[in-house]
Amino acid sequence: MASQEKEGGEAREAAPARAGDFIRDIVAKDLEAGKCPFPVTRFPPEPNGYLHIGHAKSICLNFGVAKEFGGRCHLRFDDTNPSKEEQEYVDSIQADIRWLGWDWGGHLYFASDYFGQLYAWAEDLVRSGKAYVCDLNADEVREHRGTLTQPGRPSPFRDRGVEENLDLLRRMRAGEFPDGSRTLRAKIDMAHPNLNMRDPVLYRILRATHHRTGDDWCIYPMYDYAHGQSDAIEGITHSICTLEFEDHRPLYDWFVENLPVPHKPHQYEFARLNLTYTVMSKRKLLELVQKGYVSGWDDPRMPTLAGFRRRGFTPEAIRSFAGKVGVSKANSTVDVAYLEECLRDDLNKRAPRRMAVLRPLKVVLENYDEGRVEEMDLVNNPEDASKGTRKVPFSRVLYIEREDFMEDPPKKFFRLSPGREVRLRGAYFITCTGVEKDERGEVTALRCTVDLDTRGGSSPDGRSPKATLHWVSADHAVEAEVRLYDRLFSAENPDRVPEGQDYKANLNPDSLVTLAGCKLEKALGDCAPGDIVQFERLGYFCCDRDSTPGRPVFNRAVTLKDTWARMQAKDKAEGLKR
Ligand code: ATP
Ligand code: MG
Repeated sequence: MASQEKEGGEAREAAPARAGDFIRDIVAKDLEAGKCPFPVTRFPPEPNGYLHIGHAKSICLNFGVAKEFGGRCHLRFDDTNPSKEEQEYVDSIQADIRWLGWDWGGHLYFASDYFGQLYAWAEDLVRSGKAYVCDLNADEVREHRGTLTQPGRPSPFRDRGVEENLDLLRRMRAGEFPDGSRTLRAKIDMAHPNLNMRDPVLYRILRATHHRTGDDWCIYPMYDYAHGQSDAIEGITHSICTLEFEDHRPLYDWFVENLPVPHKPHQYEFARLNLTYTVMSKRKLLELVQKGYVSGWDDPRMPTLAGFRRRGFTPEAIRSFAGKVGVSKANSTVDVAYLEECLRDDLNKRAPRRMAVLRPLKVVLENYDEGRVEEMDLVNNPEDASKGTRKVPFSRVLYIEREDFMEDPPKKFFRLSPGREVRLRGAYFITCTGVEKDERGEVTALRCTVDLDTRGGSSPDGRSPKATLHWVSADHAVEAEVRLYDRLFSAENPDRVPEGQDYKANLNPDSLVTLAGCKLEKALGDCAPGDIVQFERLGYFCCDRDSTPGRPVFNRAVTLKDTWARMQAKDKAEGLKR
């Protein structure tokens, strides 16, 4: 192909990375056939909420196609419904797309920028007898539309003359009529098998202050009328949307055919992303926020990009997920565990390992001198030797995880119990010699002895305890709050509920457990909000913006898969050295 002159497009990658999905196949064919020199796509969010993981799929598809084929992708706000739209959403959407790693260059647009042109085209349609002003209200319009099995009935206003229509349209625009009293409708076919073609509404009267155009307009274009024409104005070649718009495509094409547009775009539909244990409708997400079921749009349990970011998901993990779920024409629901696995894959390679004790149990090492402190060398990331080691202070009084001790252990419990020896990660072997209890019989501390010949976590005589525990030195611990997040819904499909209830009945009451008084190793005192680490044996955790100096807050992003079994297997296999 000849070299392409373009603005905003990026260098074409050597080979389209994911040839094979049907959208990329179409684009490749169109380029080969010379239909366009490079693709121009767009991501068209309505600024009526924060972006969610479903949007991420669409973003990665639109920006991804543009990048792979040397084209460009516009960010266009589809802001035609001022009653629900806000600047806060415009800002958050831009921040989230950038965070995901995509860039629209100079191509930031708003459908509201085209209100003037859209209106002028509406007058054109009236003049050519292809649109009319209708005085039916919304209910009456619906009632006249008919059903899938019955044709619609024409509006009594369908045959108004051009002059009268033009006059009424201008007066609608001038604000002479009350909200909802009239609409402008396309004159297509009231018996059309596709209901969208039965004289669809193009404009409604609505007095609402728009976040960009203020009170300039009291009539607003409907989505179907605004969308395709915005694509046409911007020279979009491949207008990619979700399957529910497939039935709107004939109307999309009708406008393009019947208006003097500068360019003819084409619409293609793909299956939207659905995830188990998740709702993705913005209406529902807004309700969760407004009614306080979550702390905000960026609550770490929300499926929003802001929520995922705060929880500790990385853009790399989300992009990898979007790539792996692929693009198809068949609706399906993806297991949310798959998304979590993408995060583990990414963080396993990158996240530094640290030790944190979430439910502390005090351990006193009776044969270790008071006041003595050793610096133990612990590996920062066993997957990446270049990350080196860090010094972790070790002393006479330590904390271990309460659940790592059982006074009277069942058969398969290999961790600490009276008389049993375990390894403290990267430090020493210890043996439990006694238990302290309060008057209620609750264990308050353990007495242990340490084998000073096992420094670094291996014994000269080759013996190897069955369990390796994480630990934190009491005198050096950083005190923290840790928030354990679980799925927001306890049902795979939150919308499946008994009659009379809604998705909220499936909210998981245990989706957040807050632990105070957690003990973190010293190095975690330096974390800044957004930093992500692995707490050994527990999972990946992200430092939260609620942290204050000296008192960090961590969010659990995701647990380690099958933590315990894996650790055991690994210890065995490697005869673990540290
Ligand atoms: P919702 O139904 O949640 O309100 P929406 O489709 O109305 O979402 P928009 O802001 O209009 O939200 O969406 C912007 C773009 O993102 C559209 O092109 C839409 O098709 C796409 N999109 C929205 N949800 C998903 C999803 N679950 N999977 C893939 N793409 C999606
Ligand atoms: Mg939409």
